[in-house]
Amino acid sequence: MKNQAPGIDVRPSEIDGKGCFATIGFKKGRKIAEYEGEKISRREIARRLKGRKRIHICGLNSYWAIDGRAGNGTQYINHSCNPNCYVRTIHDHILFFALRDIEPGEEILLDYEQSYHSDRKQCSCGAPNCRGRINKIAGNSKE
Ligand SMILES: [Zn+2]
Repeated sequence: MKNQAPGIDVRPSEIDGKGCFATIGFKKGRKIAEYEGEKISRREIARRLKGRKRIHICGLNSYWAIDGRAGNGTQYINHSCNPNCYVRTIHDHILFFALRDIEPGEEILLDYEQSYHSDRKQCSCGAPNCRGRINKIAGNSKE
């Protein structure tokens, strides 16, 4: 992988395929890394979502998104219903911050809330508060 962000490492994850793990501690509120990739339009998003099993697209707004397929390791941040990081979009930059103190070796996890995955896609995060689906939708409840 080229230009992997400092402080993170990509390794197999128990949640899904590969995951993004902290190699250093991140204090609550600290920036972890930026989501890097190619800026693509809504039309291109639709084209790329077709037939792709793994999605590494993160929305900037209702029109633009970043495809992190060739990104810096943050494209492997898995979804969890009990996350330890959150995302802020500042201008054209998608930034991950620590939601709480993160210890070295912990997997970095984000609540995707509304992703490009199907609303039916099941969640396998294993958290006690798992809502059963990756996307947060009205009427989404524990099963
Ligand atoms: Zn879950």
